[in-house]
Amino acid sequence: MRVYIGLGSNLGDRESFIRSAIEALVRTPHISVLRRAGLYESEPIGITNQPWFLNTVIELETTLSPQELLALCKGIERSLGRQHQHRERHGPREIDLDILLYDDIAIHEPDLTIPHPELHRRRFVLVPLLELAPQQTHPVTKQSLRQLLALLKDAQEVNFYRDLN
Ligand code: ADP
Ligand code: MG
Repeated sequence: MRVYIGLGSNLGDRESFIRSAIEALVRTPHISVLRRAGLYESEPIGITNQPWFLNTVIELETTLSPQELLALCKGIERSLGRQHQHRERHGPREIDLDILLYDDIAIHEPDLTIPHPELHRRRFVLVPLLELAPQQTHPVTKQSLRQLLALLKDAQEVNFYRDLN
C-alpha cells in the first residue's frame, strides 16, 4: 500500500527530530520509505505564540495495516520525547506524525481517520504533499490537491526551507 505521512516539529532541534522519525521508519520492517519532500517552515495555526514549525511529507510503501501504522507513529513520537498528556491540540511538539493518505481508502474509527481530517485545510501539508503526488486526488472529495490548495483562504505562511536528503 502507498502511504503518505506528514511530519512536523516546532520544539528543540526540529530538523533532527524529523530526521530521527524518518530514520525510525526506515528501520521498521514491512516499510519502504520511497521519497521525501523538502522541508518547509510554517507559521503556527491556532496557538500563535509558539515557534514556527518545520514540516515535510514522506511517501512509503507498506504492508502494515492503518492501525499498525498509527501505533508505530505514536511509538516513534513517544520515543522522541513527545509527551501526549498535558499537551493541547495545535500546541508545541517535538514531533508529530500524521497518516495523511493510505492508498485511496477512507476510514473513520474513534482514534483514526484517513484521509487525515485536516489534510485539505492545511497548507503546510498540501504544499509538501503536492511535491510528491501532484496527480493525487482526495479519496473522499475527489478534488485534486491543487484544487484543495487553491481553495484555501487562510494566509498561513509556508516557505520552502531546504532540501531534505
Ligand atoms: P494533532 O496532530 O491533530 O495536532 P495529535 O497528534 O495529538 O493531534 O493527535 C491526536 C490523535 O489523533 C491521535 O491520538 C490519533 O489517535 C488521532 N488520529 C486520528 N486520525 C489520525 C491520522 N490520520 N494520523 C494520525 N493520528 C490520527
Ligand atoms: Mg498528530
